[in-house]
Order: sequence, then C-alpha cells, then structure tokens
Amino acid sequence: MKIRFLSVSLFAGLLLSGCGKTDAPATTASTSAPAAAPAAKAAAPAAPKVVEITGNDQMKFSVTAIEAKVGEDIKVIFTNAGSLPKEAMGHNWVLLKPGTDVATFAGAAAAARDTDYIPAAMKDQVIAHTAVLGPRKSEEVMVKGLAAGEYTYVCTFPGHFIMMKGTLTVK
Ligand code: ZN
Repeated sequence: MKIRFLSVSLFAGLLLSGCGKTDAPATTASTSAPAAAPAAKAAAPAAPKVVEITGNDQMKFSVTAIEAKVGEDIKVIFTNAGSLPKEAMGHNWVLLKPGTDVATFAGAAAAARDTDYIPAAMKDQVIAHTAVLGPRKSEEVMVKGLAAGEYTYVCTFPGHFIMMKGTLTVK
C-alpha cells in the first residue's frame, strides 16, 4: 500500500516535470537530447516523439540535433522565446528534404517575404514548417513517416539560417 502510493506520486511528479515550461534553459535542452527522450512504454504505439524547440533574440535554436526512429511520428513544438518584434527578429522552423542546398534555399526564402519566407519555387524541398512567429508565439507541427537520413532544419527569416540550423537524424 505504501509502496503503491509512493510510485503513484513519483509518476505524478514525472508528469509535472514532463510538461515543463518552454523557457527551460537552452543549455540543458541542447546537450541532453538523447537522454531527454520520453521514457514512454513501448505499448503506446501512437504517441509521437515530442520535441520542444525555442528560437531567441540571439538567433539560436535551443535544440540543434534531434534523433528519431524510422517511421516515428515527431511533434515539434516551436516557440519564439525572444522579445524583439516579429519584423526584426521573427523565427520559423523549416524542415528540408535531404540533399537540399540549404544556402540556395535560404537565399530564395529571404526574398519570399510575401509567402512567409517559404519560397514558392522551392516549396517541394520543404517537408514541414511553421509560420514565422513573433515573440512569445508558439506553433506545433507534426512530422510523419520519415525515411532514414539526415534532415536539415533552419529558420528562413532573412540572415538567420547560418546561425539557426540543426539536424534531424532518422535511423
Ligand atoms: Zn530566426
């Protein structure tokens, strides 16, 4: 009886800490990516891998490396954690197909203000993306059914991709 109560409260504690705030320290998020994977039971097939990423006024993604399994659903919760206006320091999260020339894509994207910095002519290179977000805004995007490979993600706000870049490795 006592043990059961203990384990329940422990579980509740894990849940509480699991739905942590999006402004968690960037340093721990970027260095502990593998260990941060949810300890979900294998019996729950539909549960996606949840990845929380922030972008900030220093043009940094909090997470620059993600690992996932082939076919695993990935829910990315992207938040602009900065405070500068969207017009000056907006951020998005754009996942590109393997083999995309990132510099070429980002160059085209920077000129695509009317389409939220997603270049229409290269849209087929985009697997998933959020809108460009202003400060304290958040958006979720689901990524499904990726084959094994290395996928680059960037922020396509003009000038940001050099600093705001990460890799999603699927294997
Ligand atoms: Zn950005």
